[in-house]
Amino acid sequence: MADEQYDWASLGIDVTKPSIARTYDVVLRGKDNFEVDRAFVDEIVKIVPEIYDVAAYNRQILGRGVRYLAGEAGLRQFLDLGSGLPTVQNTHQVAQSVAAESRVVYVDNDPIVLAHGRALLAENERTTVVTADVREPEEILAHEEVRRLIDFEQPVAVLLVGILHHLHDDEKPQRVVDTLMDAVPSGSHLFITSFCASSQEAVDAEVQYQGLLGTGRFRTPEEIERWFAGLELLEPGVVPLPLWRPDGPVPNELTVGHRLMYGGVARKP
Ligand code: SAM
Repeated sequence: MADEQYDWASLGIDVTKPSIARTYDVVLRGKDNFEVDRAFVDEIVKIVPEIYDVAAYNRQILGRGVRYLAGEAGLRQFLDLGSGLPTVQNTHQVAQSVAAESRVVYVDNDPIVLAHGRALLAENERTTVVTADVREPEEILAHEEVRRLIDFEQPVAVLLVGILHHLHDDEKPQRVVDTLMDAVPSGSHLFITSFCASSQEAVDAEVQYQGLLGTGRFRTPEEIERWFAGLELLEPGVVPLPLWRPDGPVPNELTVGHRLMYGGVARKP
């Protein structure tokens, strides 16, 4: 587990409140989290016992999606927004295993992501980490480090995986999506996953999860689909995560955990 005695405050890291990136690290069974994050997850488990599985489904679709984007779709540039703490099978590892020349920019507003990401990526010249807020997409698009690795004349894979549900409606997630997709050329792709209020259980989970963190809200499947407006939504559309181009058989009956997040990929015409 992360060393709580270290002077994290000097890096802008608050160890007294749970952070999104660190609680996600807890449910991915990572080591870069603090007591306050683990206590938060203990509360969530009471209402969503499958939360560890949900995190795994999200990581799995991230891998399948990036493999598709670097493989069949032939993309070589990835802008991964709300990238989280570096962990196994991160976007750059998946993309560069398909095409070594793939360039990846990770963007996250939690300083712990940069603290851990810098060390990990020090020897990878095609990958970088930027600390920025997705609610300010213009700043991200103008960021020197983003411009260094991403050529906006060439198609870009824009990843908003597991992040938009952290935005409240007045933080305008649609504007974020549109600003980013307006800046990239035809052939670019948008990849979104989001917590989804598709059942009463999911709504109960939302009250607990978003209520405790104080960020954003779960969206309905229709609201998530609307984020892709103007783009060509690829098969199978916006679906529960395990149903998006699965690698193997999927269960006949989906549990609440299977349906707690939805996702999809679309191409800019
Ligand atoms: N994309 C990774 C994945 O799906 O495995 C990580 C998702 S994690 C659940 C969400 C990440 O979004 C966290 O690392 C959090 O710090 C980041 N995040 C939340 N709000 C953000 C914002 N306004 N700007 C940038 N990053 C944000």
